[in-house]
Amino acid sequence: MTTRCEQLFEEAGQYLPGGVNSPVRAFGSIGDVPRFINRADASYLWDEDGRRYIDYVGSWGPMLLGHNHPDILKSVTEACARGLSYGASTKIETDMARKICEMVPSVEMVRMVNSGTEAVMSAVRAARGYTHRDKIIKFTGCYHGHSDSLLVKSGSGMLTHAVPGSLGVPKGCTQDTLLAEYNHPDSVEAHFQREGTQIAAVIVEPVAANMGVVLPEPGFLESLRSLCTAYGALLIFDEVITGFRLSTGGAQQAFGVTPDLTTFGKIIGAGMPVGAYGGKRSIMEVVSPLGNVYQAGTLSGNPVAMAAGYTMLGLLDSHPQIYDELAEKGNYFFGELQNIVQRAGLPYPVCHTGSLGCLFFANRKVTDYESAKTSDTQAYASYCRYMLRHGIYLAPAQFEAMFLSAAHTKEQLDETLNLAESYFRDR
Ligand SMILES: *Cc1c(COP(=O)(O)O)cnc(C)c1O
Repeated sequence: MTTRCEQLFEEAGQYLPGGVNSPVRAFGSIGDVPRFINRADASYLWDEDGRRYIDYVGSWGPMLLGHNHPDILKSVTEACARGLSYGASTKIETDMARKICEMVPSVEMVRMVNSGTEAVMSAVRAARGYTHRDKIIKFTGCYHGHSDSLLVKSGSGMLTHAVPGSLGVPKGCTQDTLLAEYNHPDSVEAHFQREGTQIAAVIVEPVAANMGVVLPEPGFLESLRSLCTAYGALLIFDEVITGFRLSTGGAQQAFGVTPDLTTFGKIIGAGMPVGAYGGKRSIMEVVSPLGNVYQAGTLSGNPVAMAAGYTMLGLLDSHPQIYDELAEKGNYFFGELQNIVQRAGLPYPVCHTGSLGCLFFANRKVTDYESAKTSDTQAYASYCRYMLRHGIYLAPAQFEAMFLSAAHTKEQLDETLNLAESYFRDR
């Protein structure tokens, strides 16, 4: 019998490429069909067949407080009633900017945009404009959105679909993108030694969360900081996932390394389409209309999106204990998951920090792109399908993170762990 989701996917395929608006939603890599979501609440999703799932995707990160937080909903509905968009200045844009600057001290000025992709693309442009240099260094397996110059050996869907680059990106767009290896500072230093005076910036996910979750080894982020300083390049932290997830001040606060520019997305919109980039005042002053780095947006700083984001950040800023609770939850959940695979006699490593984690179906420790790629994606697919069948919504790809939220309960975590236990026991 075909399910409603199967019918909807078939219909979607007639009008949307692959039936989706973002590739990893297609479930192809786990050999399944997408669940069409009808509604969500707290840590649950319901699909069009009426099946309920415990949600470990959380819209890929934004739902740090779970779905439908009452304060966020209230601020959004109030903002909607005053108009959806004006294309003009609003007070809440400044409130939002001030809040970001207060929570993330390295950010002294910020520009709002509409997605993480746009934030990163614009930050790179600002870095190039500020330094008058063209080259950037990115790490294989790190994903920074789908803008042309960053779409090289990327993580997320590109890793899942095993494509090194994208068609449609002219060579000229990536010729100034230098690749280095995550957790290998030598690979960065080699570029600087060769062409240090031409390198505008190093961009990194401080915790790589688009090739599964890979933690920075001690000293790695520090070495990027000192290389950038030594060669006059800017250090850009792409905190689209880690920002406001690892702490109120993001990964830079958690690891004590200060970038020059930071990009945000996901959590700062609380589920609305928002991105932002910011950093030192002297750098951000290159952005138009103050400076000559042009960047604009019809819907940037949209009042409804700002209302959602400002309420989200306010909740996090005034309840910092949320991060201790998330860390406790993460330690419990990912720790138990590691115990379960170990009891099943499997070497699979679980990587996690706080509420962000991943189970690699790999036979060795995962520290970079090469080791991440050794994962058995078919084994992940089988596990993921089993969990889905039993009401656990995991990312439909090995190279994506699991996101815990403040709304997950101990009972839900235990239900999930029990299912994982029975899956691995029956292997
Ligand atoms: C999701 C993501 C992006 C892109 O953000 P979009 O809102 O999907 O455009 C950029 N960088 C990182 C680290 C991300 O995880």
